[in-house]
Amino acid sequence: MGEKIAVIGTGYVGLVSGACLAEIGHRVICADRDQVKINRLQMADMPIYEPGLEQMVRSNMERCRLSFTTSVEEAVRSSDIIFVAVGTPSMESGEVDMSQVRQAAEEIASHMDSYKVIVMKSTVPVGSSRMIERAMRVIAGVDARFDMVSNPEFLREGSAIYDTFHMDRIVIGADNCDAAKRIARIHEPLNAEVLFTDRESAELIKYASNAFLATKISFINEMANVCEKVGANIELVAKGMGMDKRIGMHFLQAGIGYGGSCFPKDTKAQLKIAEHVDYDFKILRSVIEVNQSQRIRFVEKVITALNGTVEGKRIAVMGLAFKPNTDDLRDAPALDIIRMLQQRGAFIRAYDPVAVEHASKLLADVEFYTDPYEAVADADAMVVTTEWESVKNLDCLQIKRLLRSPVIVDGRNVYEVSQMRQWGFRYYSIGR
Ligand code: NAD
Repeated sequence: MGEKIAVIGTGYVGLVSGACLAEIGHRVICADRDQVKINRLQMADMPIYEPGLEQMVRSNMERCRLSFTTSVEEAVRSSDIIFVAVGTPSMESGEVDMSQVRQAAEEIASHMDSYKVIVMKSTVPVGSSRMIERAMRVIAGVDARFDMVSNPEFLREGSAIYDTFHMDRIVIGADNCDAAKRIARIHEPLNAEVLFTDRESAELIKYASNAFLATKISFINEMANVCEKVGANIELVAKGMGMDKRIGMHFLQAGIGYGGSCFPKDTKAQLKIAEHVDYDFKILRSVIEVNQSQRIRFVEKVITALNGTVEGKRIAVMGLAFKPNTDDLRDAPALDIIRMLQQRGAFIRAYDPVAVEHASKLLADVEFYTDPYEAVADADAMVVTTEWESVKNLDCLQIKRLLRSPVIVDGRNVYEVSQMRQWGFRYYSIGR
């Protein structure tokens, strides 16, 4: 028999988690303060693009295991376990904006009418769940019975459902053993290894994991920059490194750096967390700097490819989302790169299979296309910023016929160097 679960916040994490918890037999009610989002979800119309999500939401709604509301009160009163999955964006300073978490916690506290387990799924700085618990106890009163558990989320956008059903681990940080075991039990059908910790360690595991993966990316990008200078091939270097099991193959693809809703904000937040305890996290500071300069280096590469200037040139930018299979544009490298090229006088024609509508609200003076060949037609160069399958599988000879000059600058190393040369392209990529 499943548990009665509420999920507060139906963004990428809340919606996927809610759908997956329903799929494994729990009764889930998802609450979000965004009326438009909830209206769409009640009609099984997905507000985000995530492979397999719509079908899972639809089938669980039909089985009456998944429902949506704008009322946090309704969600809290009808559930025993409450997941908090609201956003924790970066502020200008790099600190985490905790306002969504605070507001959600206040609302939960004011509507609790029986024992609840509150599960912090949002990525929050170390010590936050304890601080939020204290604030909730003030609002809920001394008689309120609840336990707070930290359960950071590790899913990746674009493969979020797959990741949920193939988790490497579930981290559960708690003071109360029974609450921790109950959260482990609800995940049992996922067959993932569970690591029980204290709450502070759980919170830090999330930041440490993202900071480490970001470090791998910036490291391989710096190696790629060295490869370009010494005439080595970063793909072979990465392969040779990755064959060492202590290093591993993952996150060693050189390119234009990381983006998205997690790595940029979580690395900055971890730097601030260290700063608050008077610790200068030097490696992480460099990781962030390298990531930013990789975007600038790429723009310089485009300028070089176009003989020293992009002024008045038409550039087809292939891919807007920060990675394939998502429409998420938060801190997407493509947006930065487009703005830098525009500042230098370029006209941008941008292709993306799913993120165009959203991007049109963020970018000015860009022509948007959902057909890659239309984007490329009559452009002076094609620039690859997201490794969508549709970009990888382009008919390059057709592209060559459509381009005004056969110039491709590939920020994701999606094509073979020798093949591109053979086809007569002036082809530039990263570290090869
Ligand atoms: P998101 O911004 O897509 O979604 C947050 C949702 O919460 C929004 O729909 C918003 O309307 C809603 N919300 C905010 N305050 C609310 C309130 N008081 N009551 C009800 N609803 C409220 O965020 P996301 O990408 O899903 O991320 C959520 C958390 O998970 C963040 O802390 C993030 O760092 C973490 N995380 C994200 C990912 C990812 O890939 N997106 C992966 C792992 C962890």
